[in-house]
Amino acid sequence: MEHPENSEEYKGLVVNKGIEQPSSVNPYLKRKPKKRQLSVAEFVEGITKGDVTILSQAVTLVESVKPEHQAIAQEVIEKCLPYSGNSIRVGISGVPGAGKSTSIDVFGLHVLEKGGKLAVLAIDPSSERSKGSILGDKTRMEQLSVHPKSFIRPSPSAGSLGGVARKTRETIVLCEAAGFDKIFVETVGVGQSETAVHSMVDFFLLIQLAGTGDELQGIKRGIMEMADGIVINKADGDNLERAKLAATQFRSALHLFPAPESGWTPQVLTYSGFYNIGVKEVWDMVYAYIDFVKENGYFEYRRNEQSKYWMYESINEQLRDSFYHNPKIEAMLQEKERQVLGGNLTSFVAAKSLLDTYFEDLK
Ligand code: GDP
Repeated sequence: MEHPENSEEYKGLVVNKGIEQPSSVNPYLKRKPKKRQLSVAEFVEGITKGDVTILSQAVTLVESVKPEHQAIAQEVIEKCLPYSGNSIRVGISGVPGAGKSTSIDVFGLHVLEKGGKLAVLAIDPSSERSKGSILGDKTRMEQLSVHPKSFIRPSPSAGSLGGVARKTRETIVLCEAAGFDKIFVETVGVGQSETAVHSMVDFFLLIQLAGTGDELQGIKRGIMEMADGIVINKADGDNLERAKLAATQFRSALHLFPAPESGWTPQVLTYSGFYNIGVKEVWDMVYAYIDFVKENGYFEYRRNEQSKYWMYESINEQLRDSFYHNPKIEAMLQEKERQVLGGNLTSFVAAKSLLDTYFEDLK
């Protein structure tokens, strides 16, 4: 470019020519070819060899809502089934702040001391990837997340609880086929998700805190009844005595419940995840339970019952989906609802007419 300042008129002023700027686009960069989708056989081979990258990709397919992804995922799961089942599955529940992440970090390191591999999964129907998943977030488990033998996967993103839980259940199969022999399934202890977790684990561990003395009232009876072990966290410092007191209260409360089907007496322990006190005792309890139920046959029995449960769950979910996504039903539903609310139609007649339309449409 010519600089007018360099003309004769401007004496004593010289402007250098400057250097041509390179293009801001890298001319050598070729567009990366789109990654080829692995075949079912490649997925199964990678998973059974313990390839964590392939395992992750398969889990992503399991979680996908796209029918073409689901088709592959279902085939992969089916082929992985014969390699699954060889693990202990532990559900870990507790209200936010109970210390689940802190505890899972130390629990995980503890169980890995014996060797093997650990997968940490989560069920949190309220989580959405985009907002940053609440559970299973790698950064919450500092030591485990960098452990070479651990695989941490956040909760499948928000959806119906049944859907989220089913995906986690299917992910368990893939993880086991990949050689993970310890599976933790974490959930927030605030309601329905415990039932879902309970239906896919061998041991259900409930993390509690010592409260103000009336803490037992705040806990849903159903959740306590599901627990194979209740552990009071933060039994350290000033809180130690209160934790011990809470343990006594939980023990006496448990006496009021009917004896569990497993024949096992649920235990109550105190520990501190943060200071790593009593962690060994917690896991001695879990292992003692596993030995106990393997001995009396309950372990096998329950896994079979769980498989049955998931078969029906799966049927229910797909039927529901098919019904509510049927275009004729979608078109009628709101009107029927209005009529029922307005008292112009009884619930049963409305339901019958919707179902009749649906079944007619299937013909
Ligand atoms: P989560 O919401 O159940 O996953 O709970 P976190 O693991 O995030 O813990 C909640 C808070 O409790 C954090 O500030 C932890 O540092 C603290 N905490 C967790 N475990 C213990 C413990 O054993 N003792 C004490 N004193 N604090 C703990």
